[in-house]
Amino acid sequence: MTRSIVAAVVERPVWRSGPLRVEGPDEDAFTLSVAALERLGARPGPVRPIARATVVGSLPSELLPYLRAAIGAPELPAQLAGTGRDALYEALESSVGRAESEGPEALVAVDVAAPARAGEGAGAPASGAGAVAFLVDEGRGARVQGHGVRHHPSSRPPDATEWVRTVRSSAGPAPELGGSLTVRAPAQPPVLLAAWSRELPGLVPRAAPADDPSLGPAANVAPALEILAALRAGAAGPIRVLASIEPERTSYVGFRLDGPIELHGEAPLPPDAPERAPPEASAPEVPGISEGAYVARDRYLEGIPSRWRFVAERCPKCGGLSFPARSICRHCGCVEGLTEELLPREDRRVEARTTVRAGAQPTEFDALTAGTGGYDVVLVRLSPEARATLQGTDRRPGSFRAGDRVDTRLRRLYRSEGEWRYGRKAIPVRPGAAPGAGSA
Ligand SMILES: [Zn+2]
Repeated sequence: MTRSIVAAVVERPVWRSGPLRVEGPDEDAFTLSVAALERLGARPGPVRPIARATVVGSLPSELLPYLRAAIGAPELPAQLAGTGRDALYEALESSVGRAESEGPEALVAVDVAAPARAGEGAGAPASGAGAVAFLVDEGRGARVQGHGVRHHPSSRPPDATEWVRTVRSSAGPAPELGGSLTVRAPAQPPVLLAAWSRELPGLVPRAAPADDPSLGPAANVAPALEILAALRAGAAGPIRVLASIEPERTSYVGFRLDGPIELHGEAPLPPDAPERAPPEASAPEVPGISEGAYVARDRYLEGIPSRWRFVAERCPKCGGLSFPARSICRHCGCVEGLTEELLPREDRRVEARTTVRAGAQPTEFDALTAGTGGYDVVLVRLSPEARATLQGTDRRPGSFRAGDRVDTRLRRLYRSEGEWRYGRKAIPVRPGAAPGAGSA
């Protein structure tokens, strides 16, 4: 079996800023990457654990160890592979080209909203946020046959016919394999398209679909979605070439498609999607931590398995479940032979809610409530034996109700000792984003 891109997950935030979907006040490149990776790991059917993770996008490198902790694989090789279209093509080609013994690799393309360009609308971002996770594993799917860049004058996009021929011949012995040649350009170049139609019979030139207006020109997620669109477009033949023409350079990537890509799409935007206030021009001050809420860094790190992944412990002596896990049975005090159990994180029930309005919050949530006006705290039933008290998010404060179905996501809590602290929060259940939904 050869390695191919076999599955993909598209994760988008529900917060809006004008037409764009942008990260919420408690989301960032880390939480969006984790959400995509968690959904990749929660696909139905037998799922092999991820053996390597690669991120294309602006994720601070000091968060890589936390990425491993978030998916419960502390020894996982995890790496950053730059940012932008060409970095994404390169990372996909490297991943598909690794030895089969390397095991499944998750490759995440992630963007947060880009700051407004100077001189344009007050605070309106230039592009939106999201994450796309590709799974590269043994099996049928898409193989990268090559990628490249051509520099050229603005007026004359390059005739890369020879390059496309090479890609096609590298994909198999049949010299005239068919497929599609998707062209993304500010204005379609008719001379070039005519030349390609004539010289590359069987490869149907087509204009790329218009940019998603909720995403705009996001550096990493936009090219990732273009790849998925090209791979999923109906075409007679396995060759899929993408040409992205910019004023003075054109990026190419070519694939051979041998089987369908299993796609888990984004959740539809809920009708009450919250609007995000324009971000502050300057970074918020690190807020003080209220007395009694301070958690030392060591204790925070110790609590990550329980707080981030809902790891509980089953007692061999009395059979009781302890959550959060503390290496001691809270029913009988037994400390030996406790076994880890993962509690479910999706489609749980709210049992009770308290709303904390702006002004009543502990100081560490000052920055959050300044943007949202408050937040809900919900008691969530995780299993017959375990409940968790979680902040609610992605919804106006006061909206959660007892009986509501909720999913949970890792989100920012507050800054402490120079870094963000993260924890799971409750969000309204997202039917469209269920692991099995939207697959093809
Ligand atoms: Zn016990």
